[in-house]
Amino acid sequence: MDLDQQVNKKLMKFKKTQIDRYSRQIILKKIGVVGQKKILKSSVLIVGAGGLGSPISIYLTALGVGKIGIIDNDNVEISNLSRQIIFNTNDIKKNKSLTAINRLKKINPDTHFQSFKIKLTAKNINQIAKNFKVIVDGSDNFKTRFLVNDYCFKKKKILVSGAISKFDGQVYTFNFHKKESPCLRCFIPKLPNDELEIDNCENEGVLGTLAGIIGTIQANEVIKEIIGIGETLCGYILIIDALKLTFRKVKLYKRSNCYCNEKKK
Ligand SMILES: [Zn+2]
Repeated sequence: MDLDQQVNKKLMKFKKTQIDRYSRQIILKKIGVVGQKKILKSSVLIVGAGGLGSPISIYLTALGVGKIGIIDNDNVEISNLSRQIIFNTNDIKKNKSLTAINRLKKINPDTHFQSFKIKLTAKNINQIAKNFKVIVDGSDNFKTRFLVNDYCFKKKKILVSGAISKFDGQVYTFNFHKKESPCLRCFIPKLPNDELEIDNCENEGVLGTLAGIIGTIQANEVIKEIIGIGETLCGYILIIDALKLTFRKVKLYKRSNCYCNEKKK
């Protein structure tokens, strides 16, 4: 059987509507039928259905990720709508994870959704995240970011983390299958004590479009990790200044005394 026949045989298992839906991705040599199947079989947990969670979840659903979990215990507020583009004015006071999933279901019937209307804690994280291979962090606080980082390191999950404040954004990818991968604590050793030190959208303000830029880069990182193509940000932090429109990729080293570094033991 030559390659074309093999590809055709694999295509047979796709429904006609799936071939049409994903045709622009399947046609890409680096994705093809095999890559699209990897996407359809993948599972991604999105932490936070906010400014970052909106583009992350919309793109991952449209691309064909097979299973998406969304955890968010908050309700939609009017001040969210300038950047949380998955919601509209009628959604105010409704739970974010449930409302986001209702919208996402209309985008792609291939995706299965799981809603977690709960606050993520050290106690419940394993129960929630254990059945997902990739975790995307779009949360708005350091406490959650550290919790997710530590869990992903311990369970060897792929983590794509993003943060936004004012006109600045950062993205980091940690593939904990790779021994040399640093973690968030290599970069920020300690949780900032003072709440005011923590830049978040509520205290500092944020430009709506920045959520779109950072969230979309996070979704792009997830897809590359799922298919295994290109180079991800693993080992780097991407720092974006939306005012100057500069993108800086800074090397992130495994810190010698970080708990993720096995050599310290
Ligand atoms: Zn570390």
